[in-house]
Amino acid sequence: MKINIKTVTRGCRPSQASGKSSTAQRLKIRSILVPIDFSAPSIKALEYAALFAKQFGAKLTLLHVVEPTGTPDFMAAFPIVMENDELVRASEEHLRTVAGKCGIERGLVEKNLVRTGVPYHEIANAARTLKTDLIIIATHRNTGLKHFLLGSTTERVVRHASCPVFVVREGEREVIEGI
Ligand code: ADP
Repeated sequence: MKINIKTVTRGCRPSQASGKSSTAQRLKIRSILVPIDFSAPSIKALEYAALFAKQFGAKLTLLHVVEPTGTPDFMAAFPIVMENDELVRASEEHLRTVAGKCGIERGLVEKNLVRTGVPYHEIANAARTLKTDLIIIATHRNTGLKHFLLGSTTERVVRHASCPVFVVREGEREVIEGI
């Protein structure tokens, strides 16, 4: 069978079409966003992110999103605001220590961010404004009522993110050497 080279290389960048991709092109990953909800899968994603950061010479930004508590109309806003403020403060505190607890070098973490809002929305927004090169996120394979009603944060991040997303799934084959 005769293969038309023009057809095969259509859609490739010029250097790929000329076979230079493996030597002339490199992945440029300088900043990695790691959304953390403090669950075990999100800590595992952080461990993957630390290895990516080391291999690519990148820096990590850890992000936790505090979901605002619904404020009933009949209640004064003040106590709820206080509650959210406390949650934000506690999350900032917790986020600052999480990398150290996993044995991740301090120098790899550039920023610890706490935002308030809907997690997938804040994660996608942060990636866009920070010009993140890669998001590394976990998925829990949730099947319960919360998942049915609220959907998956990870699925939505994949759909809305402005950069590539690396998903660490529970129970998958490890690709970390030395495990
Ligand atoms: P799934 O997407 O598998 O249904 P979740 O939606 O509960 O499960 O969360 C998946 C991942 O999304 C978490 O491991 C975490 O990385 C990220 N995530 C979820 N909620 C938050 C949050 N409030 N702040 C930061 N990251 C979050």
